[in-house]
Amino acid sequence: MYYPAPIERLIENLSKLPGIGRKTATRLAFYLLNTKESYVSELSNSLIDIKEKIKLCSTCFNITDVDPCPICRDEKRNSATVCVVEESSHMMVIESANPGYYRYHILHGVINPIEGIGPDEVRIKELRDRVQREGIREIIIATNPNIEGNTTAHYIAETLQDLDLKITRIASGIPIGGDIVYIDPLTIKSSLDNRRNL
Ligand SMILES: [Zn+2]
Repeated sequence: MYYPAPIERLIENLSKLPGIGRKTATRLAFYLLNTKESYVSELSNSLIDIKEKIKLCSTCFNITDVDPCPICRDEKRNSATVCVVEESSHMMVIESANPGYYRYHILHGVINPIEGIGPDEVRIKELRDRVQREGIREIIIATNPNIEGNTTAHYIAETLQDLDLKITRIASGIPIGGDIVYIDPLTIKSSLDNRRNL
């Protein structure tokens, strides 16, 4: 069954959102139809705002509404160390574990030859420029410990090896609270290779 054209259009647009099928989209569309007009205009304005006001920080490429972003403006952070991450959402996770400590560099992706994403598609050149410009002493590469993340980490290490810079990679191993019995062999191997003194 088809609803009036404006409702159909809304259902169609809502069902393009991840995790939303036609059934949920229909329920949301009718909720919006019956709710207060003030909420609907606030919702539609906030949707337009994220496209108009959110940009990338010209220093770290974090998503921001002011440039430089609040993290780059924060003078209390360690200015010699930059944590390199794949996406802004990964930065948020590291930030919540170490509030106010690191500076970041967001690559916006990883090298993935199968999908045609080369080093120029992620912000590695910008990282190099920044290391030289800001006199950064250490970069911590916190890309995911999968093939693409490891490839990207190695590429960055190679590209920056001529600079006077300490390059480190986050450790991968058994999660805190985990049980060795349930850990895959590759992770066990990595945790043995990355063992440290007690
Ligand atoms: Zn920034």
